[in-house]
Amino acid sequence: MDLKEHIRAIPDFPSAGILFYDISPLLAHPGAWQATVDRLATIVEEHKPDVLAGIESRGFLVAAPLALKLNLGFVMVRKQGKLPGATIPYTYDLEYGSDTIEIQADAVEPGQKVFLLDDLLATGGTMNAAARLLRSAGAEVTGAACIIELTFLKGRDHLDMPIRTLLPYD
Ligand code: AMP
Repeated sequence: MDLKEHIRAIPDFPSAGILFYDISPLLAHPGAWQATVDRLATIVEEHKPDVLAGIESRGFLVAAPLALKLNLGFVMVRKQGKLPGATIPYTYDLEYGSDTIEIQADAVEPGQKVFLLDDLLATGGTMNAAARLLRSAGAEVTGAACIIELTFLKGRDHLDMPIRTLLPYD
């Protein structure tokens, strides 16, 4: 099945000059979404993680069905201020300004093997920040996967763990 048939590219969203890769048609098609989850599950299983982590917000859509399928727990990496109780933050630089992501303080145990998931890899800044956050909490990041990769941005070159993606766009 050609999963790219279920990805919609929308120009100038959320701002001028950005080509936004919309996974809504993929989610709306049970067969294509099942195939996506199955392909990602094969990748995740190779890494034998103890727990999955999904990056807000479309990373949650990817991590949740994989957690159920593989009988693993699932940790939410969220934007600052969304998680209740004690949290561990990580602040990283953007092109203009900075952003902060968090996990709950008890989300991972020291030495736990965590596998990271998101919908799309662009510059790699978000994925890199999530990996650093999880490591600062004592976890070992065994790898990462996304559905889509914008290969021309070379995001994977900035990551210090193995990353696998299903649909490259250049
Ligand atoms: P980056 O940190 O540059 O790798 O950006 C990755 C994050 O931003 C992911 O969580 C994506 O959901 C989102 N993102 C970045 N660029 C796009 C794009 N062109 N289309 C859809 N989502 C994007």
